[in-house]
Amino acid sequence: MAGVRKGKYCSFCGRSDKEVGFLLAGLEGAICNECVERAAEIVQETKPSVKKEPMQLGQIPKPRKIKKFLDDYVIGQDAAKIYLSVAVYNHYKRISQPDADDIDIEKSNIILVGATGTGKTLLAKTIARLLKVPFTIVDATVLTEAGYVGEDVESILSRLLQVVDYDVEAAQRGIVFIDEIDKIARKSDNPSITRDVSGEGVQQGLLKLLEGSVVNVPPQGGRKHPEQKCVQIDTKNILFICGGAFDGIERKIAARLNTQVVGFDSVEQRSKVDFNNIMRYVSPQDLKSYGLIPEIIGRLPVVTSLQPLGRDALRSILTEPKNSIVRQYTKLFALDGIELSFEPEVLDFVVDKAIEFKLGARGLRSIVETIMVDAMYNLPSTNRKKYTVTLEYAKSQTEKADGTILDAI
Ligand code: ADP
Repeated sequence: MAGVRKGKYCSFCGRSDKEVGFLLAGLEGAICNECVERAAEIVQETKPSVKKEPMQLGQIPKPRKIKKFLDDYVIGQDAAKIYLSVAVYNHYKRISQPDADDIDIEKSNIILVGATGTGKTLLAKTIARLLKVPFTIVDATVLTEAGYVGEDVESILSRLLQVVDYDVEAAQRGIVFIDEIDKIARKSDNPSITRDVSGEGVQQGLLKLLEGSVVNVPPQGGRKHPEQKCVQIDTKNILFICGGAFDGIERKIAARLNTQVVGFDSVEQRSKVDFNNIMRYVSPQDLKSYGLIPEIIGRLPVVTSLQPLGRDALRSILTEPKNSIVRQYTKLFALDGIELSFEPEVLDFVVDKAIEFKLGARGLRSIVETIMVDAMYNLPSTNRKKYTVTLEYAKSQTEKADGTILDAI
């Protein structure tokens, strides 16, 4: 990292061991007692509170209320917000219905399709935060078919159990976000004759979880603790939200739309299709062509897409959400008694850089961090009460770190 002083200094606030109570030394740096306390407070504040009791019918927020809450944290993505709000509302209505009669409402697991950094995880996280239900994020890329190196599909539920301190009842009403679902797609549309341990086999395993069944879950996850006794979890009432970038799916969508419109009043039909924003037409059929097995698609009845974030959206993300990046840094500085501000051109510059890196909103934070690191390192040890980040400073900081920003993302 730029400008790190060697010796007995806190790597966070830069103060020496003489200026603080004590320093805890790590492999590459140290942290002082005050920064430990501050970090603990931040962790506590950001930790979502989880209610272990079931929600009663009247307590479930209505779809419009859910959407409004999402609007506070997620910019744009209206279509996805509406689909999600309805699906989540229906899901919790379904599991809180007093007495089951002949009408069995089916589960409405969801699949969000959209480029990286468009807010898929953020949407799922924000909903869980509103509902205060147990929530966990898992990455589909670590999963492999049972018996192979990697994690068994059941380990997805270990995390959910851990979030609720092993309260099985509570875990059975949680939400699981499975990220990178596209990475377990079959490599081709045709069933393969060779083994595909990270593709179709995993999809088959996942199917069991999505459709609702009782599975044996290793409470500590993984296979590192072979002696652990498995816990039985019924996934019938667990909501699964899957997310994936599905790189290249636009071509499949376009091909389908092209064949559909041929033969009809094609010129008129074609002109209705917004080819600049092809992702919004994603359908279960396209997911199948991409390599998800039909059974999995059948268990993910709600399919919706997220739009790529344009310049205006990225600019808004920096300042508008309740916990926007700018607000977070302002708070960090305020904790040291420093009033932080940014020249508006700095924010435009950050957006330009994020567009250059093609990482959606994901790049914004790393770019701001690169710009701010030296100031965060030096200012707490000074008497400054105000600090304005100028465009010139932002440019020089990013030039200095050129090449390392992408590594940090
Ligand atoms: P992905 O679509 O890859 O799951 P994430 O939801 O993880 O993307 O987004 C990465 C980060 O980018 C989030 O933590 C958030 O700070 C920001 N972000 C992405 N999309 C949005 C959005 N639509 N509104 C606000 N912030 C966003």
